[in-house]
Amino acid sequence: MPPTDVYFHGDPAKDTLSARGFMKRMRNQMRAYNIDDEAVMIKAAEDSFGDDSLAEKWFTALPAADPARFTLAALETALMRRFPDAAKAEKPKAQLVSEVARMRITMEELAKKTVTVRDKEVYAHEEFADRVLRMADEAEIKTSTVGTWDFCAELPRVLREAASENATWEALVQEIKQVPLVKLRSAVTEYKAQRKLEKEMEGLVAAMKKTSMGGAQGAAPQTTTTTQQTAPATQPRNATQPRNNAQPNANTQAASPEDLRRLMDETVRCMATDTPDGRTRYQEQVTRWHQNNADNARLDRVGYPLTPGTAPPCSGECYSCGKVGHRGAACSVPVEARIPDKERHFRGICGSRLGLVNAQRGGNTAAVNAVGAVPWYEQAGEQDFGAGPAQ
Ligand SMILES: [Zn+2]
Repeated sequence: MPPTDVYFHGDPAKDTLSARGFMKRMRNQMRAYNIDDEAVMIKAAEDSFGDDSLAEKWFTALPAADPARFTLAALETALMRRFPDAAKAEKPKAQLVSEVARMRITMEELAKKTVTVRDKEVYAHEEFADRVLRMADEAEIKTSTVGTWDFCAELPRVLREAASENATWEALVQEIKQVPLVKLRSAVTEYKAQRKLEKEMEGLVAAMKKTSMGGAQGAAPQTTTTTQQTAPATQPRNATQPRNNAQPNANTQAASPEDLRRLMDETVRCMATDTPDGRTRYQEQVTRWHQNNADNARLDRVGYPLTPGTAPPCSGECYSCGKVGHRGAACSVPVEARIPDKERHFRGICGSRLGLVNAQRGGNTAAVNAVGAVPWYEQAGEQDFGAGPAQ
């Protein structure tokens, strides 16, 4: 009997191998020792079940005529059925899909330039891209676009700009990997300079606060962006959000489908008409949006004004021009006449998370539950749009 260091207990807490992995090792060992007698192989497998383990008890309890007692192939089938791969069983596909969509890379990570993978230096963005592809493969969405919008929306800009609309995960990963190093380097340099500036600003504000004890103007420069913020997040802002403190709620969690649905309905309701007056109003909406929101504000929380004359989101519209009848790749509208990037993203998020709910539009316009970020149309200034041109 060949010595074996392979054991199987049928208990994920004790096992380092799955049932399948265990059987593979068994076969390898049998081959290494030139054993092809099924009875000997079965005996070896039996002796590799841990003492008093679930696996041993299971095997002992098998009927005398059970095929699993006679051939390694039958044993493998029965063992895998009785002890399915715990890691796989615990992670349903939907969970894997949402894990892929939530994968992130930060500018800090990009700034590191390379990471070590199995003793080899790999560029950080390439390693990230490979990891995403492996996950997408495991979730069986490699050739689909499920979740790509949310994923792209959270990419650092230098990578996001390289991603094309409606790309599958497979294509997306290629696009990320192909971002030229020169571009990455200059984005990182820019980011570092920006960080330095922010730090200096923070120091300056702190110093101002110290010198003007009790002076209300001390904290002024960064905190007056909105007047209607709901209560700040529970944790102290500085501890959890070192950057972008202009919009304390911008990075709250993803909106629930219900919240997103309400946000979309309200956004459609507030859409300006395609008339000279309507277009003026639309310009005001956009201006106000940018006054009230940081550039990284969550679009699934705050939304974005819709271009007059376009179709509602989730109507199967083209994300480039907002019209129905064709999709992104077939869009013939010239680049300068396309809808703003943020509207495009907002439409993408609605479309990918809610589906074609507006293909035949009903009319559900409940008020939006403003948890976290405040929807654009409820923010300072938007109420008085009826009062006439602002300038
Ligand atoms: Zn189009």
